[in-house]
Amino acid sequence: MKKTSVLVVALALLMSVTAFAQKKAKNVIVLIGDGTGLAQLYAGYEANNHFLNIYTMPHTALSKTSCTNKRVTDSGAGGTAIACGQKTHEYAIGVDANDKPINSMLEIAKQRGKRTGILVSCDVCHATPASFMAHVPNRNMMEEIAEFYLQDNVDIFMGGGKKRFDQRKDGRNLIDSLKNHGYEVVFNEQEMFNTKTQKIAGLFAENYMPLFKERGNILQNALTLTLSRLNQNNKKGFFLMFEGSQIDSKAHDNDYEAMLGEIKDFDECVRIALDFAKKDGNTLVVVTADHETGGLTINDDGKAGTMPKWSTGWHTGVPVIIYAYGPGSENFHGVIENNETFDIIMKAMK
Ligand code: MG
Ligand code: ZN
Repeated sequence: MKKTSVLVVALALLMSVTAFAQKKAKNVIVLIGDGTGLAQLYAGYEANNHFLNIYTMPHTALSKTSCTNKRVTDSGAGGTAIACGQKTHEYAIGVDANDKPINSMLEIAKQRGKRTGILVSCDVCHATPASFMAHVPNRNMMEEIAEFYLQDNVDIFMGGGKKRFDQRKDGRNLIDSLKNHGYEVVFNEQEMFNTKTQKIAGLFAENYMPLFKERGNILQNALTLTLSRLNQNNKKGFFLMFEGSQIDSKAHDNDYEAMLGEIKDFDECVRIALDFAKKDGNTLVVVTADHETGGLTINDDGKAGTMPKWSTGWHTGVPVIIYAYGPGSENFHGVIENNETFDIIMKAMK
C-alpha cells in the first residue's frame, strides 16, 4: 500500500473508533423527580416564565410505572425498577419480586471502578436513594438501609436522615462507623464547603431537609461540589443519582405552591447537571420520575393563571416522562417499561 492509502485507512479506522467511543458515556447522572408527572412539570414551566431546563433536553420517552403486584406503584418498587432493571413488589428495595437482592446501576458502576454519589432532599435512607444502594424487602426497614452505607459503595452521599445513624434502636453510632470508613461526615452547608476529599457523608437534617424556601440553594451547591469531587482526577468516570424528593411529598399534601418551589429547585439542579455534561462531552444525563403523585391536572380559570386540581393524595398509574441528554440518550424513545430505563443506561455506560 502507498503511504497515503495507509494514512487514509488509519484515519478511517481512527474515526470509526472515535465515533464508537463517543456513543458510550463515561459519566452518568440520573435525576429523579419523585412523583413528578407531566402536569407537575408543566406547572413548573408556567410558574417559571415558560421555561424549564428539563424541556431543553433532546430525547424523551414515556415510562410505564406499574409494579408486579400493583397497578399504582410506590417509590420503593418504582426506584428499584429504574435502579436495578426489574419490576418488583410494592415497598421492595433493591430486591426482586421474590425478595432476592439485585445489583443496582450504582453498584455495577462501583464494580467497574467508577466513583458514585447520591444526593437527595429527603432522608438518605428513604425509598428512592435506598433503591440504588440497599437490598431489603420493605422500605420501612430504614435503620437496616442505613447500614448499607457502610459497604462503601457510595463515595458521596448527602441529604437528611441523620437520626438513622445516631439515634438507632440498636444503640450503634453509625456516624463513628462512617468516619472509621474514611468518610468526612458533615452536618451543614459550611462544613460541606470545607471538605477536602472525595468521600463525604452529608447529614443535613434529622429527617427530611426543609422545603426549598427555607433550605435555600444547599442542594444546588451540594450538586456542584459533588460533581467536581466525583470528576476530580477521575479516569474511569462516575455515577450520580440526584433526587428531587419533596415534589412527591408536597404533591401528597396537594400543596401546589410548595410543590412549585421543589420543582424550581429540581430544574436548577438539572441545569447544573446539563452544564457539566455539555462541558464534559462524555456524560449521559437522564431525568425521570418513579411515578406521578396527586393526579394533578391543570384547568383554565378563565383569566391568566392555571387552576390546579388534584384527584388523590396518593400516587397514580399514569406513565411518566424520561428526558435524556448526552451519549446514549438517543436510545430513549417510544413507550417503555420503567425497568427498561436501566437497560438503556447500562448500554450507554462505558
Ligand atoms: Mg423518593
Ligand atoms: Zn409518594
